[in-house]
Amino acid sequence: MPLVLRIALPVPLPTLFDYLPSASGAASVGSRVLVPFGRNKAVGVVVEADVPAHVGNKQLKRVLRVLDDEPLLDAELMQTLGWAADYWLGAPGEAYANALPLLLREDKALPETQEPIWQLTIAGRSALDAGSRRGGSRALLQVLLAGPMSTTELDIALSDWRPAVRRLAEAGLIERAEPAPSANFSPAAATLALHSEQEAAIAAVTEAFSRFQAFLLDGVTGSGKTEVYLSLIERTLAQGKQALLLVPEIGLAPQTVRRLRDRLGVPVEVLHSNLAEGERARAWLRMRSGESKVVLGTRSAAFTPLPHAGLIIVDEEHDNAYKQQEGFRYHARDLALVRGRALQVPVLLGSATPSLESLANVEAGRYRALHLRSRPAATQPPQVQIIDMRAQRLEHGLSPALLHAVGDTVARGEQVLVFRNRRGYAPVLLCHSCGWHAECPRCEHPLTFHAAWRKLVCHHCDLQAPVPSTCPTCGSQELKPQGQGTERLEEALTAHFPQVPVLRIDRETTRRRDAFEQLLGNLADDAPTILVGTQMLAKGHDLPNLTLVAIVGVDEGLLSVDFRAGERLAQLVVQVAGRAGRARKPGRVLLQTHHPDHPLLRTLLAQGYATAAKELLVERKQTGLPPYGHQVLLRCEAHQRAAVDAFLSEACAALPDTNTLQIAGPMPAPMPLRAGRQRGQLLIEASNRRDLHAVVRPWSAHLAQLPSARKVRWSLDVDPIDL
Ligand code: ADP
Ligand code: ZN
Ligand code: ZN
Repeated sequence: MPLVLRIALPVPLPTLFDYLPSASGAASVGSRVLVPFGRNKAVGVVVEADVPAHVGNKQLKRVLRVLDDEPLLDAELMQTLGWAADYWLGAPGEAYANALPLLLREDKALPETQEPIWQLTIAGRSALDAGSRRGGSRALLQVLLAGPMSTTELDIALSDWRPAVRRLAEAGLIERAEPAPSANFSPAAATLALHSEQEAAIAAVTEAFSRFQAFLLDGVTGSGKTEVYLSLIERTLAQGKQALLLVPEIGLAPQTVRRLRDRLGVPVEVLHSNLAEGERARAWLRMRSGESKVVLGTRSAAFTPLPHAGLIIVDEEHDNAYKQQEGFRYHARDLALVRGRALQVPVLLGSATPSLESLANVEAGRYRALHLRSRPAATQPPQVQIIDMRAQRLEHGLSPALLHAVGDTVARGEQVLVFRNRRGYAPVLLCHSCGWHAECPRCEHPLTFHAAWRKLVCHHCDLQAPVPSTCPTCGSQELKPQGQGTERLEEALTAHFPQVPVLRIDRETTRRRDAFEQLLGNLADDAPTILVGTQMLAKGHDLPNLTLVAIVGVDEGLLSVDFRAGERLAQLVVQVAGRAGRARKPGRVLLQTHHPDHPLLRTLLAQGYATAAKELLVERKQTGLPPYGHQVLLRCEAHQRAAVDAFLSEACAALPDTNTLQIAGPMPAPMPLRAGRQRGQLLIEASNRRDLHAVVRPWSAHLAQLPSARKVRWSLDVDPIDL
């Protein structure tokens, strides 16, 4: 057998591909190569070199070109990626594709690692003095007056500055400056005197530097977790090592980046999906070369090379945004832990509301718990009260007690947050005469009524439809919006409190990249305001004058059949409540519900998240659900229900007959129809993870061979977070 290179190609096939080495040069493991693939070419990563081929000489093609003299992915990343593809049952090529920024997946030379730095020319200065430029161009000139700025810094300072750069560079008003690293970074800001719990947490993690240990830093919002991260990153830098800080959303990034830069006095790389591709690739490469020491990023930043790794931190570790929900379905927190072990560095998970998974790991002695119980920035924890909505006269879903409290708060000159996790005006448009309601034909799910757009929108498939003026079934004009979304609450609160500004913050009002920051930035003057918003408001950004949080419409979470719904609801309530009283003034939280006696709410309010989580864990243990049991979900969809049924029943029949597994299904998915496709699933559970993988691994390879697989789309999800 000839010796070949075994290569991961970015295709959703559960296999590596053998190629003969290129005539022109050797390729080592971790290098990228260009290969012929079908009628095209593809860029792949060498996973194994000089191994005997699986197939005969005749079928083998030759690598066209070796793109990297030195491996782009180091041994640790290669090992971790191999592990990840195996664990999450992903196509190996897709795992590698996730790890590399888009630009590095192309057949091109690596971009320079230095990002452009822009500065004013003499002509630029005169133009500014003469006032000859307007709008975006003028804003850019003005910003550069303070000194040269890198693209990353410009991103923070301005929105949408790229067209202006092009115009001004062509006009000779600005030019690229020679890179002067760290010239723009001010020295570290004076550090706070840490309190004793912070000291203890820092000491525990520092003691574990240079070996693997997982920690769970459990502390309410405002308890000083970020200060702990900052101190630990400082110490990591002092040892000449690199730190990776993961955050769940970019919404949290700008504020944290600023805090890191001010404090550490070194460049901080940022990696998230809203970044321009060039910047993303450069940041990745600067971490790989060791030129940069700190990276802050969202999910995919968990794949950043860390040749001088010192510390990995996962903030808000409970957040579901860490789980990728399509393609390669990895979990960034779990990947971070695997990397910590491979790199022999501590991994610090932080949260005010730890996931049940992490709490179970603490219980089992696998993670060490660190607690921050006091709250330096607040006088006292917010008081939480339940408002019983039963038998109340509601005004657009708002109870008199709630409206009263809102009125009192703004009258005192303070700010209010009304939290409702639903966009739009109303989740249902109902005919009062015959009971018809507007439904998405592609999902068989109610359409959300959006008043400002005058549209019905499906939140599952984005279908848009005009709002009918009469009922299509009975012709009645009595079409009534049912239930409340943020848009309706905004309208109701504006009508009720005409003298107070009402600010809505949800995906619609924050479409633009920095709109969220801007909207909240406008509140800096602390004027009395009513904020209405979704989950987006649950975190980030300190609002020191926000003293009342009103939570409405959480009952869906109490009644859901999803076994994780209780955990999510508890986390959400605590996170949202944490927004109140970050001020010196005491905060208050109102929770409006039709189920005031629900045991979860009772425990949560009377005894707090830790106790509620403990009770939820007991239930999970009794029922053998995660984290005590392990799950793999096979999802399937097709235009024809029969195709779904055929595939799932063949898949089910292909499972070995063993008593280590429990099998649920085949059954329809929770949404049996979505975007016009029939959906079904098969859930496989086991109390032992190894048993589960031992069966599912060969089975997943077999699934691709089933004749019925060609008529459906299917995917496997290991440790699914929504069933
Ligand atoms: P968390 O990340 O847990 O929400 P932060 O680290 O952001 O908490 O701290 C909340 C606020 O308290 C911040 O304004 C921070 O500067 C301040 N803070 C944190 N630790 C201390 C301390 N030891 N002394 C005084 N203020 C502190
Ligand atoms: Zn009707
Ligand atoms: Zn739909």
